[in-house]
Amino acid sequence: MKFIVSVSKLENFIFFLKNLSCYHFSCQKAFNQQWLLETGKLTSKEKAVLKELRGLLKNTNHPKELLKKFKAKSLFKNRFETIWQKERKILERWKKVLKRELNKRFFDQLLDELSVLYSTHFKRPSVGICLLLSAKDLLAGEVEDGRIAIKCSGLEINKKNLRKIESVIFHELVHANLEEEVKKLIRKYIRKRDLEEFKKTKIFRKIRSLSRILRELILSSFLPRGYLGEKYFSDNLRKSVNPSFLKEIKSNKNLSNLEVFIAYKLYPLAKKYIEEKRPIDFDFLEKIISKWKEYEVSPLKSF
Ligand SMILES: [Zn+2]
Repeated sequence: MKFIVSVSKLENFIFFLKNLSCYHFSCQKAFNQQWLLETGKLTSKEKAVLKELRGLLKNTNHPKELLKKFKAKSLFKNRFETIWQKERKILERWKKVLKRELNKRFFDQLLDELSVLYSTHFKRPSVGICLLLSAKDLLAGEVEDGRIAIKCSGLEINKKNLRKIESVIFHELVHANLEEEVKKLIRKYIRKRDLEEFKKTKIFRKIRSLSRILRELILSSFLPRGYLGEKYFSDNLRKSVNPSFLKEIKSNKNLSNLEVFIAYKLYPLAKKYIEEKRPIDFDFLEKIISKWKEYEVSPLKSF
């Protein structure tokens, strides 16, 4: 399999606008904070225009259409240029490094393991990855229209960060290509199992889809942290559990903290599934649900 890595100014501009608009729960508030710190607070006109953009994004997510419809984009050109001129060099450097490293290592075994786990064959000969802006020390990934976007301009170039990015790429690769069977399984599970109590949680109220949450929790039991993160990308979740980390998880209940909690707690089970070549099943979902419950009740006690 070949990885095709790209950096595009236009894609970054569109991402910049979308992220500033906060139209979706996946928008990164921390990126906006840094960008606005560097370019000044939003004016009331800009705020009004971003509200308009949020409305537009509810109806279209297609980049070309969006740019055509969003007339006020020039209002943000200067801000974007300031950030872009600062960050583009690091994105270009990451592009080179990722192109070389991703195509150098052989990920066949990892892909086989993921295919068994997700009961789906991975058939694509190549994977496109576009690199986007982030903020200092922050990394995020996302899939849009089957393409993987990695937000990584805030990461210094080094081996540790390279492994982190690779691990996030494989997480997104599963979302983009391997989840069809697991989606069906989750639908069946949700029909059978009474999960009403989880609809009261802060996490559900934000994301509003049990299926989406369960997909994230399954995948993050393996990648980017969890068992496969450790096996292939030197992740050190099990070693990094310490008091301040526990405090953070306890004081701030959100999906990414829950993901880390579950990856930590389900590590032995995830390892067992991979070693026994067992696909995701109702038993695995039951374990996820019981850990989610444990997290909601008292994460500190259970660690
Ligand atoms: Zn994900």
